[in-house]
Amino acid sequence: MTKPIVEMENVKKYFPIRGGVFSRVVGNIKAVDDVSFSINKGETLGLVGESGCGKSTLGRTILRLLEPSGGQVFFKGNNIFETEKHEFQKLRRELQIIFQDPYSSLNPRLNVGEIIGESLEIHKISSGKEKQKRVEYMLEVCGLAPHHHRRYPHEFSGGQRQRVGIARALTLNPDFVVADEPISSLDVSIQAQIVNLMEDLQEKFGLTYLFISHDLSMVRHISDNVAVMYLGKIVEICGKSELYDNPLHPYTQALLSAVPVMDPDAKSQRIILKGDVPSPANPPEGCNFNPRCRYAEKRCRLEEPELREIDSGHLVSCHLVEKG
Ligand code: SF4
Repeated sequence: MTKPIVEMENVKKYFPIRGGVFSRVVGNIKAVDDVSFSINKGETLGLVGESGCGKSTLGRTILRLLEPSGGQVFFKGNNIFETEKHEFQKLRRELQIIFQDPYSSLNPRLNVGEIIGESLEIHKISSGKEKQKRVEYMLEVCGLAPHHHRRYPHEFSGGQRQRVGIARALTLNPDFVVADEPISSLDVSIQAQIVNLMEDLQEKFGLTYLFISHDLSMVRHISDNVAVMYLGKIVEICGKSELYDNPLHPYTQALLSAVPVMDPDAKSQRIILKGDVPSPANPPEGCNFNPRCRYAEKRCRLEEPELREIDSGHLVSCHLVEKG
């Protein structure tokens, strides 16, 4: 049986709101609020939701790029949030991130060899010829030519820059990679190439991904399991086929209804969500989806639903969904 490599328990990331003369904390923006799930080794968990739902904040909090406000994350049994800073630096090699924007995430003053090789020097893994060999190998496996190490980021197209970003993330041979909207700033024609490259690299290096995206078609392509996030919370999580064939949460149903269908005979009924995502600084009482939910009833405005297992491995937080 495949074992979880990453396990999250009640992860929270709050940003304080300050006000008054003494700049006291008067409230919190609950960007990530009590999130728990696990990812098996070698698998991909797709994390979807509208912009501002907390997906990227969660990805960065897991890697401690943002200080967590609560909860625990275990990576290979080590509690990442409680590891001392110097110990965490060692662990950091195995935990990497691919950023959304390949334009701003690469230092324009460094050439590609320096960008990819930087972490090898920082972690004192290799330098000189050995480092050069590793850089050239990473360029090659990411679909670029070894001699590209002399070039600067501005000499590449968007897709090539994202390949450089991926090579940089993988050069330390990590086990777990957070891919934070890795295709959203690329041309549609390039997006599939990058996702295919990520799949090939996953197989080659046995990688585990948290793939954050609002593109449900791409998430379906690459993921084993999918989690749907709304206003800082997971509202549904299950296997990919189960989610796309049998979405149970009204929010998931609305998101999926907006995905274009390839079959011209298939009838899809678009569910239009009312209003905008409420502010996480002032979330609604009860179920936080209730102001936009077409099924909302009195109970939904009073009681917050729990994330419950409805069917084997299928968890949903909605009062109206019955156990199968
Ligand atoms: Fe809609 Fe109520 Fe379910 Fe929330 S608990 S998703 S408001 S039906």
